[in-house]
Amino acid sequence: MERRILFLGPPGAGKGTQAKRLATALKVPHISTGDMLRRSVVLGTELGRQAEAIMAAGDLIPDDLVVSMVIERLEEEDTRHGYLLDGFPRNEAQAVAFDLGMTDRSIELALLIEVDEVELISRLQGRAAELGRSDDNEQTIARRLEVYKEETEPLLSYYPARGVRVIEVDGVGSIDQIFTRIVLLLEEAI
Ligand code: ADP
Repeated sequence: MERRILFLGPPGAGKGTQAKRLATALKVPHISTGDMLRRSVVLGTELGRQAEAIMAAGDLIPDDLVVSMVIERLEEEDTRHGYLLDGFPRNEAQAVAFDLGMTDRSIELALLIEVDEVELISRLQGRAAELGRSDDNEQTIARRLEVYKEETEPLLSYYPARGVRVIEVDGVGSIDQIFTRIVLLLEEAI
């Protein structure tokens, strides 16, 4: 099975949940830039201080900060047999910088979790009510979806143009159903 995998999909598609499960199954680290940034905010690091307001607005953290954060993380020993990226790259500039920085250890395969917009908005609003993540309010949700369309969606043609396959997975169903779909698609993809 491919072991250097990128999860793509709009906010609310369930990337984090599926990425965690798949990382456990493949025995590779789950690297989520959203989680890393939220941790920096909680710890009050310099990066966290810079990121907090940007995240609350639903905008993107400057590319250079995120790129160096991820490349540093990927220098750690546990990524030797692969990694699962979640939330990065989020635009073409990040993807280009990452490809240049990683050379022969860049992404092998991308998985796109697809969920239509009406369903996404209702999921994100539900999550806001339950978990109270500070960027799950109405305004920020709309902004994050807009940023996804403008900045991240172009990656759906960036990767195929560079010979990296993007596999589409239907993201509507139970967590187990979606996970089963992902595993079957990955097995087929080898
Ligand atoms: P979402 O479910 O909205 O995709 P994430 O947890 O992936 O949530 O990201 C939350 C926020 O963290 C984003 O809205 C953005 O502000 C910031 N962030 C995460 N990853 C990146 C990245 N690769 N580049 C810039 N900003 C990022």
